[in-house]
Amino acid sequence: MVVCMKLLSVIVPCYNEEENVSDFYDELFKNTSFFQEKELEVELIYVDDGSCDNTVLEVKKLRERDKRVRLLSFSRNFGKEAAIYAGFQKSKGDYIVLMDADLQDPPSLLPEMYGYIEQGYDSVATRRVTRKGEPPIRSFFARIFYRLMNRISKTEIVDGARDYRLMTRRVVDAILAMSEYNRFTKGIFGWVGYETKWLEYENIERRKGETKFSFWKLFAYSIEGITAFSTVPLTIAAVMGAAFCLVAFVLIVVTVVRTLIFGDPTSGWPSLVCIILLVSGVQLFCLGIVGQYLSKTYMEVKKRPIYLIKEEL
Ligand code: UDP
Ligand code: MG
Repeated sequence: MVVCMKLLSVIVPCYNEEENVSDFYDELFKNTSFFQEKELEVELIYVDDGSCDNTVLEVKKLRERDKRVRLLSFSRNFGKEAAIYAGFQKSKGDYIVLMDADLQDPPSLLPEMYGYIEQGYDSVATRRVTRKGEPPIRSFFARIFYRLMNRISKTEIVDGARDYRLMTRRVVDAILAMSEYNRFTKGIFGWVGYETKWLEYENIERRKGETKFSFWKLFAYSIEGITAFSTVPLTIAAVMGAAFCLVAFVLIVVTVVRTLIFGDPTSGWPSLVCIILLVSGVQLFCLGIVGQYLSKTYMEVKKRPIYLIKEEL
């Protein structure tokens, strides 16, 4: 009898994760019976996103012992989104799972996730239902972001969704077909569609090391998300402009009529200054919105590569 093994690609973006590389390996392969039972071969792809610590060395050590471990190393830090894209491109698996190196995405969920794939789902996604261990200010802004995002975008972006996701080949091929430079993967997952099963779990804190996302990095990321998946801010700018024109028109009529009836006593100087400040503020704000879209378009038309590989094993 010929046993037809399926290949599972595990993709792990790593940026300065030297302490977590081998812990992740141990944790993933702890439950070998699951892989055997389901006749799954595994390739574990660590994508080193330009780490300046010993991440690459740690991965190489693992590879010496176990050839299932693969390494992709970038020429510099290109960001997690680029690492995800590279991992997907280089993966050969029939099934692909994306996981963080810090073990916030528990490998113990894999059997359950795979069960749903067997049932016919194309994608099994996870979301955390708590934000335990996170700074409250970060949770607060995250919640506002998701609420806003779902108002202004047709693409569903789930609050608390993690990037931890098990997908079939065709989902990953669909994601790869979206070769945009400004990548907001949370939105891309929603955009490609396919039947998705959501699993929920309580937030797990990072095993070792520090988070690689500062508040400002997350803020920039949220702007990325908005410009990539909604053009509503542009409409708001246009509507605001129209509203101000209307108000100005009414005021002109009122002023002319009043002058004709009551003459022209000089008054209203402070209020005039306030109005000029307000209107020029709104103009700059709208210009800024347009600028955001323009800058994203600018980066997009350059068609620069999303990542550059320094070493591949
Ligand atoms: N990461 C990356 N490139 C970056 C930042 C982060 O590849 O520029 C990786 C990081 O090594 C980790 C994952 O993305 O495996 C999630 O990062 P982190 O745990 O710091 O984010 P958080 O869980 O705090 O949102
Ligand atoms: Mg983390």
